[in-house]
Amino acid sequence: MNNKDNYNIGHCELCGTQNISLINSHYLPSFFYSRMYDIKDKNHTLNLIQSDWTKRNMGDHQITKYMLCKYCEDLLSKYGETPFPNIALPINQRNPDLFVKLIRNLLPKTQNNLTLSKLDNFDNDSLYYFIISMFWRSSLSWNKNQYDKRTFQCHYPKQFIDEMKLYLQKRVIPLSFKILVIPLLRTPYNSCSLPKETNLKGGGKYYSFNIYQYLFILLNDTLAEEKIEGLQNGKIAYCISDYFENNFSYQFNRSYKESKTKGRKSLDVSWIDQKFTFGWSFTGSTQPLYFISGNYLVKECNISWTKTNT
Ligand SMILES: [Zn+2]
Repeated sequence: MNNKDNYNIGHCELCGTQNISLINSHYLPSFFYSRMYDIKDKNHTLNLIQSDWTKRNMGDHQITKYMLCKYCEDLLSKYGETPFPNIALPINQRNPDLFVKLIRNLLPKTQNNLTLSKLDNFDNDSLYYFIISMFWRSSLSWNKNQYDKRTFQCHYPKQFIDEMKLYLQKRVIPLSFKILVIPLLRTPYNSCSLPKETNLKGGGKYYSFNIYQYLFILLNDTLAEEKIEGLQNGKIAYCISDYFENNFSYQFNRSYKESKTKGRKSLDVSWIDQKFTFGWSFTGSTQPLYFISGNYLVKECNISWTKTNT
């Protein structure tokens, strides 16, 4: 087994089995790279903003590390990574099911602060599984060594981690935190923001990541009730949130503008000023949404409102 290039022996981060062959797991699932390469402008590159605010061309380097045994790797793949792109990402310029359902159900605001605990005729469970798996992955360190600053490790309360692991392995629903699924409606974000922590001014923090036009939030139950009016019981809530969209937009633009480019080539993204756009419209939407070819940005940052990290 030792002579195989893609195997290492160690303990599995999810099930804890010792001395087992480990798979070179992806932090960002591999579908992300293939989808991005498929849809981005061929003359442009995939860029990454590192945790130290260096912006660099990713080249062919994907973020991987020996983390999981084959059993756990297959688990995450089968229940989260395989269904997610089919329900949530554009395929051949076809509108993704998740985005269309969010727009149709949430945007015609027949009442203020509409929140839903599930979407009808939709694979809510696979989406939830994928979101939990991404947040859990972010509790691990994906950097290769101390000089590698590509990613930022999230620090969750132990109870959150225990509940995430139990859910990913045995489907026991976590009770100490809630997941919010928020469509980003104002600006196109052809990007992925890896999970990060944000401190709140009044105390407490939340965790978030972004893929495509979705923002995924993890926060404890009390904060969730505080920030989202009309929140129903349940593990997940689909809602539009000006509060979280504004926070995300501020952090995103700030880290993009303030990050320093590594190398001489410009890594500016072409869509940030909305060039080369073609519109997508949705039944029930009040404004056109855009999908733009060009550079893609994988964003990692450790910004918080009180900026506790360096
Ligand atoms: Zn395992």
